[in-house]
Amino acid sequence: MSRTINILPENLANKIAAGEVIQRPASAVKELVENSIDAGATTITIIIKDGGKGLIEVIDDGRGMCPEDAAIAFERHSTSKISSFEDLETIRTLGFRGEALASIASISQVELRTREASADVGTKVRIDGGIKIEISEETASVGTMIAVKNLFHNTPARRKFLKNTNTEFKHIYDVIQRIAISRPQLELKFVSNDETIAHFRRAPLAQRLKDVFGEKQSGALFDFGEETEFVAINGFLGKPDFARKGRIEQFLFLNNRYIVNRGIQHAVFQAYENLLEKGSFPFFILFLTIDPRRVDVNVHPSKLEVKFDDEQSMYRFVLSAVRKTLTEHDLVPSVGLRGDASADIGMALRHISGQTGGTHRAENWWKSPSSARVPAGAGFAGVNNSGDEIVGNTVPSSQMESIPKESPYSKSSIWQIHNKYIMVPIENGLMIVDQHAAHERVIYEHVQAMFSSGEKESQQLLFPHTIEMSPGYAALVNQLLPDMEKMGFSIKMFGKTTVIVDGVPNDVRPGAEGTILQDMLNLYKQEEQDLKLEPRERLAKSFSCRAAIKAGAPLNQAEMCSLLDQLFATQIPYVCPHGRPVIVRLALSELDRRFGRTS
Ligand code: ADP
Ligand code: MG
Repeated sequence: MSRTINILPENLANKIAAGEVIQRPASAVKELVENSIDAGATTITIIIKDGGKGLIEVIDDGRGMCPEDAAIAFERHSTSKISSFEDLETIRTLGFRGEALASIASISQVELRTREASADVGTKVRIDGGIKIEISEETASVGTMIAVKNLFHNTPARRKFLKNTNTEFKHIYDVIQRIAISRPQLELKFVSNDETIAHFRRAPLAQRLKDVFGEKQSGALFDFGEETEFVAINGFLGKPDFARKGRIEQFLFLNNRYIVNRGIQHAVFQAYENLLEKGSFPFFILFLTIDPRRVDVNVHPSKLEVKFDDEQSMYRFVLSAVRKTLTEHDLVPSVGLRGDASADIGMALRHISGQTGGTHRAENWWKSPSSARVPAGAGFAGVNNSGDEIVGNTVPSSQMESIPKESPYSKSSIWQIHNKYIMVPIENGLMIVDQHAAHERVIYEHVQAMFSSGEKESQQLLFPHTIEMSPGYAALVNQLLPDMEKMGFSIKMFGKTTVIVDGVPNDVRPGAEGTILQDMLNLYKQEEQDLKLEPRERLAKSFSCRAAIKAGAPLNQAEMCSLLDQLFATQIPYVCPHGRPVIVRLALSELDRRFGRTS
């Protein structure tokens, strides 16, 4: 039998490997700039032509290379960054695989000039398609300059897949943007077709973000940080009304390396879940810092993916850190508004017309701990039962201290339109509240509180309701029984399909006691395909939706005030549990603008 296995010549092996490391001009830019950063550069200039297809030149003021290193830097597996397996475990540099330069050189024409500070003269190396054609002494400034021409010129299949110049340019810009965000201490200059596209000077991170995203966009971010023994997280989160339709503006850095990690991205998304409109994604910039031994960055040659030793803990850590930050901030989705629309709800409430109460209390009272909150739903049950005006008297006196005696709403100036929305004048405009969504939010948080505290609030029914169910529904009741009891339902099964309800949660409207269970289960079933949701979460959502007052229900003044009081006692008053906005603010400045007023 004749031999069929060949060892590939190094040059060909490099070309094949190049396909994984260098997919497009932007990957070459990334690798070259990362090398400059690893070499301790403080200033890096990137010059490209034709979206990097014609030329990519990276110039740094890093430590440079001695002639011997310059001669082998383009060999495969040549690296100064690790020398043993142990080093790989504790990697702190961006590069370590020793294949970027070899890959780039195998598919382009490369010229390198480099000099170390201690040397009088520099070194020049020229390579074409992986073949060294020149090594010589050459005058050079301290640092390294690498020019890459005609990338993919000898791999026509790959070249064919390149996108047009604009697209490739955009990819390169993205790479530079990520580096600019993660290294504010680095001066970065980017020139494309002789035009200076960006020049980021050294700056503190907040200033760098302004330079990268502009004043307006960076103003819509708030910073946060959280730390445990093993991992630290810090960064900037976008306000919910700043969310995007795609995931493009999500910046995740692990130990200052830009990475893509679906788990962590999902954790952030999850934390925002109830704050975002459907189909939009949060803007965020996150820096995770973790002991390099607890993460593997050597998953793929592009080093974009990483593996954590404990993915689940990371997920939970990020989720809770982001969620905590979001609840601590006042987040009003100022849908479709401009001008001072981002002014927070605290300001808005403080200036509710007619309000004279203490400013400080008005600003903070709804943030008081749950024990001091108005019992959700009680107001509505109270109003409908007795017909009395109940603002204030639904609140047990022991809980009164932290709630201003005087309602922050001027009763006479609140009104309802189309039996659907509540209009609340505020000093700098108008706040419009969706009554159903608002009540949903109130009940939802109430149910969550019952789940976590174990203290249920239930109303015993004088006349128990007997419901005949299909076997499927009866089985569901059986399965959900423990959680439903925690919510305040009192249910007994009789035979296989007979369900007797003799107690329902306080939040159930008078008259709805007999139908609420079936209504809630119907919705629960409908949303069953949403596998992400825990059964409890789905129960809370289904119940709050079905128990909440509907659009179309007329409300009197007292009911509206009570609802608003309860809404602003919730943790996140601005969106309903399904992600729809609860409040829309119409700023006076917006009205002035539309009416062409200048003052
Ligand atoms: P890696 O970065 O994984 O080590 P590369 O192929 O990217 O592999 O680079 C090979 C080696 O060349 C590096 O380890 C480094 O020693 C040297 N090198 C590359 N670029 C520079 C630079 N800009 N300044 C100084 N040394 C560099
Ligand atoms: Mg490298």
